[in-house]
Amino acid sequence: MDRDKILLTPGPLTTTLRTKLAMLRDWGSWDADFNAVTASVRNSLLGVIHGHASHVVVPLQGSGTFSVEASVATLVPRDGHVLVLDNGAYCKRAAKLTTMMGRRVSVLACDEAAQVDPQTLAQQLKADPSITHVILIHCETGAGVLNPLQAVADVCAAQGKGLIVDAMSSFGALEIDARKTRFDALIAASGKCLEGVPGMGFVFIRKAVLDACAGRSQSLAMDLYDQYVYMEKTTQWRFTPPTHVVVALHEAIAQFEAEGGQSARLARYTANYQTLIAGMARLGFKPFLDPAIQAPIIVTFHAPAHPNYDFKTFYAAARARGFILYPGKLTQIETFRVGCIGAIGPDEMEQAVHAMGLALQDMGIASATPA
Ligand SMILES: *Cc1c(COP(=O)(O)O)cnc(C)c1O
Repeated sequence: MDRDKILLTPGPLTTTLRTKLAMLRDWGSWDADFNAVTASVRNSLLGVIHGHASHVVVPLQGSGTFSVEASVATLVPRDGHVLVLDNGAYCKRAAKLTTMMGRRVSVLACDEAAQVDPQTLAQQLKADPSITHVILIHCETGAGVLNPLQAVADVCAAQGKGLIVDAMSSFGALEIDARKTRFDALIAASGKCLEGVPGMGFVFIRKAVLDACAGRSQSLAMDLYDQYVYMEKTTQWRFTPPTHVVVALHEAIAQFEAEGGQSARLARYTANYQTLIAGMARLGFKPFLDPAIQAPIIVTFHAPAHPNYDFKTFYAAARARGFILYPGKLTQIETFRVGCIGAIGPDEMEQAVHAMGLALQDMGIASATPA
């Protein structure tokens, strides 16, 4: 069968035919038509967070991590001090890249099965006044935890600290309102909940901190301030843009808006999540997280206790039926993940559950109950 497999992964994810078809043309990076597409994308992105008054948006070539790294290098002074709120793998990645950017880093270690705690953050900021910036991962894609963005932003605002938010896997699906929530930078990417293809990130930067960012980055290619100034002046990207990714994102955003924007996307992903959870429970699977802190983005399940289970075989059996699963990212226990995002609905989730049920049958596992 040459039908595309359904990607139950947190990016790249399944896209619509319309989005894929948008990539069948070539575009000149200097051409006015392409520059108009870039401008339209930037305008729409600001609209998603109601950020026109308070923020600018700067697109950057590369995967999402490139934009996180660029944000740290552009926003944090060379002698700044960053506190990373750590409840998972993407937090650890943010801490590592901040260290590699030469900025001082402290880590507030949290349980990966819990939300980060704003009260502990407030105490830590009081205890160490040298901290200049805080990094929060909005939805920690490692386990799937939804972190308390508003409460963390309020603590940072009250104590005058800069806040950098990695909203990669939440942007477009979960509500983020720049009129209510104060952040200095917020990062997302083309190939997540907007359902574009991967290849570019974008960073919302608060206008009030923008001018101070000039000259902070030690990297030429990753300097978001330079990218912003150049784009404002010329309407063009500074270096070769990912043209096909940009036009695909433009098409994906048109569909996002037609669907009803963020609230409609959240409703669809929530329906996907509920269909998944109910179906997996029938098979005996148990989710890792307390539903109260689970984002409807990606779900971590415990591996079945049955001795026949191994992820590779399970993956291959689901793949043979057209569904791509995602390995777990927890350090202590064996898990796997299923994404609820992408151009899919509850019907596809029901089919995915059915495929996983058949995969268990292949492996001679009557129930997926964990240890
Ligand atoms: C996807 C994702 C990223 C970016 O990962 P890339 O592989 O660089 O695209 C960063 N943070 C979070 C929370 C993510 O989900």
